[in-house]
Amino acid sequence: MKTVQHKFVDLIPDTLEEGVLYICIPYCTAIHKCVCGCGNEVVTPISPTGWTLSFYGDSVSLSPSIGNWSFKCRSHYFITKNKICHAYSWDDWKIILNRKQEEKEKQKFDKKRRKQRKQNVGGDALDS
Ligand SMILES: [Zn+2]
Repeated sequence: MKTVQHKFVDLIPDTLEEGVLYICIPYCTAIHKCVCGCGNEVVTPISPTGWTLSFYGDSVSLSPSIGNWSFKCRSHYFITKNKICHAYSWDDWKIILNRKQEEKEKQKFDKKRRKQRKQNVGGDALDS
């Protein structure tokens, strides 16, 4: 899915169509089905502490980004002028952080090993 259609509604419909961003002004809420196709409904309250809705006449933007961390898909995207821009998923960030952590651990381990090697100079190599 690359784009969404916006639809202003007075009431949030029981069944949501995929690719439609329903905007319910009386309830200050927008709702849509997760754009990855997992079928989960994403509720974005429009409030000073929630999301901001920008209406351009023919398209809408929601900010900040939508991060579906509580869903299995963990999708993360922006809706900007009805276009969906995928962002890093939380998993990607975790992977990056993990990699850094692993790198650190590896360096620590290498240092330890080098130390051990030095101590074993002249003796039997304990390098297995
Ligand atoms: Zn999803």
